[in-house]
Amino acid sequence: MRKIAIVGGGQAGLSLALALLDEGYEVSVVTNRTPDDIRAGRVMSSQCMFDAALQIERDLGLNHWEKDCPPVEGIGLTVPHPEEQGAKLIDWSARLDRYAQSVDYRVKMPVWMQEVEQRGKLVIEEVGVAELEKLAEDNDLVILAAGKGEVVRLFERDAPRSAFHKPMRALALTYVKGLEPVPDYSRVAFNLIPGVGEYFVFPSLTTTGPCDIMVFEGVPGGPMDCWGDVKTPQAHLAQSKRILDTYLPWEAARARHVDLTDPNGILAGTFAPTVRKPVLTLPSGKLLGLRTVGRLVDELAFVSAPAAHIETARYGRAMSAARERHRQRFRPSPGIVPMVAGRASVRKVCVE
Ligand SMILES: Cc1cc2nc3c(=O)[nH]c(=O)nc-3n(C[C@H](O)[C@H](O)[C@H](O)COP(=O)(O)OP(=O)(O)OC[C@H]3O[C@@H](n4cnc5c(N)ncnc54)[C@H](O)[C@@H]3O)c2cc1C
Repeated sequence: MRKIAIVGGGQAGLSLALALLDEGYEVSVVTNRTPDDIRAGRVMSSQCMFDAALQIERDLGLNHWEKDCPPVEGIGLTVPHPEEQGAKLIDWSARLDRYAQSVDYRVKMPVWMQEVEQRGKLVIEEVGVAELEKLAEDNDLVILAAGKGEVVRLFERDAPRSAFHKPMRALALTYVKGLEPVPDYSRVAFNLIPGVGEYFVFPSLTTTGPCDIMVFEGVPGGPMDCWGDVKTPQAHLAQSKRILDTYLPWEAARARHVDLTDPNGILAGTFAPTVRKPVLTLPSGKLLGLRTVGRLVDELAFVSAPAAHIETARYGRAMSAARERHRQRFRPSPGIVPMVAGRASVRKVCVE
């Protein structure tokens, strides 16, 4: 088994592609946006990754921004007092054993895509059913790593395992410069406002250098679910500041002089966390298997990018281990992939 196609050029697809290229596989990544589209596009995530995920990038030699990206050295949790305006009910912080980091995907993905292009193949194409059929025909393994892309919706929703029918939070991101640092050590400053939502903020590296990312998670229908009428980047910034002024005066004080990193440094939206059935039959009768990563916790916790990353690293390791086992048993044949049950049966894997 030598030829692998990966659909989706995000954190999961690209890191797996580069890991498999290291192992000597022939890898093509098929994705629907060019490096320039991504670089010049809107922010996609807050992408904070903790040490276990960062170590995978170090091991693969993909941590090109580690020296330039400001570290996230700790975590803080604050809950405003429900009765005393401006007071804190809970307020603590602690250092992490090892720092976390967040590198804007607009910085990271174009460089990783160019590396795939140099060492393997990069195809810019929107993948639908017809393209999946062709990829399955031309490759020994197809891995679907298209995130929340439409193509993943081909896999039926797994109703009993999908706990939520509707979005649980109204999400918004605001990438800013000029935020006052917190004393002692940098941190994810997490604020929990009962009944309203959550706000957290931490340092990052974006296209214009170091910045901070504000993340808003509003309870649906509540006062922080307030992005529908916001039409311009400056209005988005003003709304961000208004929320802080209203609920979190200590965060508002830090944010007094902030400005956007760039007009695309904003995002607002919602989605319902969804678990999907693991198998899809293509019209030709070929089966595709689905691998779901971290979707249930996507909206509330910092686990998805690391989960996608750790999962892809697991795939990479499993594939090379299987190849080694195969090599020892059947020298000098090429490798096999563990999730392959035979060419005619389940031999495609999807990372959502
Ligand atoms: C507001 C927000 C904040 C977040 N913050 C964090 C955080 O701080 N830390 C964290 O760990 N996670 C965070 N996440 C989650 C994290 O961004 C995702 O888990 C991660 O991006 C998943 O990576 P992926 O490669 O699986 O998918 P994606 O990053 O979505 O990449 C999928 C790629 O596939 C391409 N694609 C899609 N459909 C097709 C198609 N039909 N044909 C070809 N290509 C296609 C897309 O263009 C994209 O490049 C956040 C998410 C959101 C929405």
